Amino acid sequence: MRIGYGWDSHEFKSGIPLKIGGVTIAHPKGLAGHSDGDVLLHALTDALLGAIAAGDIGTYFPPSDARWKGADSAVFLRTALEHVERAGYAVANVDSTLILAEPRIGPHAALIQRRVAELLSIEPASVGVKAKTPEGMGTDNAAIAHVVVLLTKKAGKRRRQAEALEAVPQPVVDSVAESLVESAVASKWKKT
Ligand SMILES: [Zn+2]
Repeated sequence: MRIGYGWDSHEFKSGIPLKIGGVTIAHPKGLAGHSDGDVLLHALTDALLGAIAAGDIGTYFPPSDARWKGADSAVFLRTALEHVERAGYAVANVDSTLILAEPRIGPHAALIQRRVAELLSIEPASVGVKAKTPEGMGTDNAAIAHVVVLLTKKAGKRRRQAEALEAVPQPVVDSVAESLVESAVASKWKKT
């Protein structure tokens, strides 16, 4: 098992769409950033990469690269997920906390939960989405996201081979064993 943690923040700016967790939310301000500013997907991407000690979002998508200007952050998440799968892990569950003064996340939480689950190919029940207002923090013009993920090791090659062997009907195994014995006996006779 592996645990991963990610954190991100973006500043609100007038006149740009607000995207959180892959969901566009109607609001006069959006989150400024080189990409679409999706603070939750960025924190999630970092959590996934952190869990397998594979760097962070900037390692693969540097802000200096013009290709990622205005990019859909789902692309970043998918890349992180590919790294996780290649490392032999699967996502067990995700928990997240958003900190922002507005808009209220409650009415959108279920949609964000479903979208994040869909992007990770896991059940919505395995995605926690919580939100708080930044009491006393003085960050009313920013959105902040904290994310933790738990990864479990996928079945290894040996276990898969054992399962594949078990799946072969027994008469087939017997006949293969028989022919092996026969050929071994035949070659023994040939030698002597
Ligand atoms: Zn970000």
